[in-house]
Amino acid sequence: MLIAGATVLTVAGAPRGARAQETPVIDERAVLIVVDVQNDFCPGGNLAVPRGDEVVPVINALAKRFSNIVLTQDWHPAGHSSFASSHPGKKPFETVEMPYGRQVLWPDHCIQGSKGAEFRADLDVSSAQAIIRKGYRREVDSYSGFVEADRKTPTGLTGYLRERGILRAVIVGLATDFCVSWTAQDASAAGFETYVVEDACRAIDLEGSLEKAWAEMAENDVTRIRVSDLPG
Ligand SMILES: [Zn+2]
Repeated sequence: MLIAGATVLTVAGAPRGARAQETPVIDERAVLIVVDVQNDFCPGGNLAVPRGDEVVPVINALAKRFSNIVLTQDWHPAGHSSFASSHPGKKPFETVEMPYGRQVLWPDHCIQGSKGAEFRADLDVSSAQAIIRKGYRREVDSYSGFVEADRKTPTGLTGYLRERGILRAVIVGLATDFCVSWTAQDASAAGFETYVVEDACRAIDLEGSLEKAWAEMAENDVTRIRVSDLPG
C-alpha cells in the first residue's frame, strides 16, 4: 500500500515493510496507538461495537508500559457523508459508491463536540501526548489514523511519529475490522514495525469483515499478538 505524497518510506534505517519481530520491544521508540475508544463505539453508544467497553481496562493497564501514546478520535461534522441519514432511502450498514470507492453507511456517530464523540470516561491514558482527529471533512471518511479514505490525504500522524523517532507501533482499540485494521495497515505501509493486540480490540464483524481484516493485515506485515505476548 502506498501513501501518495510520501517520498522516502524508511524510518531511521528500517526498510519499508520490514517484517515485524514476533513481539515488540517497548522502549522510547515504541508508540501505543489507541484507536477510537469513544462513547459512541461502546455499548449504549450510537455505533456500539459489541463488548467494546471491555477494551478499556486492558488498554489502561497497557498504557502504563508505554512512554509514547497517541489517541485517535473519530470526529465528524453533523450530516457527514458516511452517515446513512445523509443518503435518502439508505439504511445503516448498506453501502454507497463514493468518489473514492465503496463506503459503508453508518448510524450518525461521533459528532464533533457531542457526548458520543468523547473518549470513554474510564479510559485512563492521561499521559497520551497527541490526539489525532479524523473524519472531520464532510465528504470523506477516515477509518485510518494515518490517511483518509480517499487514500491520499494524510492526517499528519506519520510525520509526527517520524519526527519523534518512533520505529514501532502497537495498536489497540475499536473496531478491529475497520479503524484498527486500516490504521495498522497504514502504519506498516509508512515503515513502522506494526502490531495489533487482538485482546485489546473488539470488532463489528459485518459479513465476514473481521476475518478479511486479519487476512489483509497479515498480508501487509502487521503482526497479530495478544497482551500476554508483550514483554513484562
Ligand atoms: Zn466515523
